Amino acid sequence: MIVILKPNLDEQHELYKKTYNYLSQLPGITINRHQEHGAQQVLTEFYLIGDTATLSKEDIESLPGVERVVRISDEYRILGRHSDEHRASSFEYNGVQFGQDSLHVFAGLCAVSTAEHVEQMMKALQENGQVCARMGAYKPRTNPYSFQGHGASCLPMVFELAGKYGIKVVVMEITHDNHINEIQQALKETGNPTGVMLQIGTRNTQNFELLKAVGRQRQFPVLLKRGFGITLEESINAAEYLASEGNTKIIFGLRGMKTNMGDPHRNFVDFAHVPVVKRLTRMPVCIDPSHSVGTRDSDPNGILDIMNVTAQGIIAGANMVLVDFHPEPSKALVDGPQALTLKELPYFLEDVRIARSAYEQRVELTKKFLATA
Ligand code: PEP
Ligand code: MN
Repeated sequence: MIVILKPNLDEQHELYKKTYNYLSQLPGITINRHQEHGAQQVLTEFYLIGDTATLSKEDIESLPGVERVVRISDEYRILGRHSDEHRASSFEYNGVQFGQDSLHVFAGLCAVSTAEHVEQMMKALQENGQVCARMGAYKPRTNPYSFQGHGASCLPMVFELAGKYGIKVVVMEITHDNHINEIQQALKETGNPTGVMLQIGTRNTQNFELLKAVGRQRQFPVLLKRGFGITLEESINAAEYLASEGNTKIIFGLRGMKTNMGDPHRNFVDFAHVPVVKRLTRMPVCIDPSHSVGTRDSDPNGILDIMNVTAQGIIAGANMVLVDFHPEPSKALVDGPQALTLKELPYFLEDVRIARSAYEQRVELTKKFLATA
């Protein structure tokens, strides 16, 4: 059961104390406290753990400090919807709003190569009206002898160039909790020219200690990718690990499943799960067409498979697109064969706009239909 307090009641407030005291006297119930920081207000939520079936929702709702009480199902305590449409499904970070109604493209380098490439990429993003970017410094590689990423040494350069070209959020994979400190350090050294969203890759979706460390910090939002060989439920529970440690600024990423059934694509594209994740949880959903498809093959019209699956995800309501671009794909240090070129950036973004507009029209159409049904 979740007890949501009236907005902006902090620990010092009389009503906060009264509610807490009342709840803490309930037999067999323990309380976990969570705070949701919205743009305008802070919401405190008390999670009542234990045998809550016998508790009266009405009694608790009649307490003066309580806004609402939500009975929850067992699954996804914090991130789940629990048939309550009023709980926040969006968050703001460094001036950018992320939610189940927004759409942001994070285009950029799978792996940071040279400063020149980073600058060309950032400049192209700004010229095309983008405020988000993707940059890989720590690369988890299948082969230990493959390039592992430039690591901490490239961070100041990446952050400074992001700031120079008006990029507000750089999404960056981390593979170890030390990387959080390295990113904090580099941001501090460079005077916080940009913001960072931490990415947990598909190989680490169930690295529970990493999830806990990332969940404990509240500074950076998180993109958690679905594990490529586990069920959707297991991956959403991984997201719940982050939330249970206190960080609820989470975006859930679909990137295809590892099975030969998806051949000739690198992974089996799973974007049919965009609306499923939005229905089950309050998380915005990201699609990664680059790692799903993994090639630059195209249909008889010349439309790249990467762009076809991007459109499929967006037309089903995706909120974020993570996509590999590179100024010189032949010189990319990782995943060059799936990278789009800077010349393709405005074309890609226009295609995204068309798919998004089709999604919005479908939402309106359905509203009208349901109003008459
Ligand atoms: C990546 O985004 O560069 C990456 C390694 O992705 P994934 O974890 O989905 O393989
Ligand atoms: Mn990659």
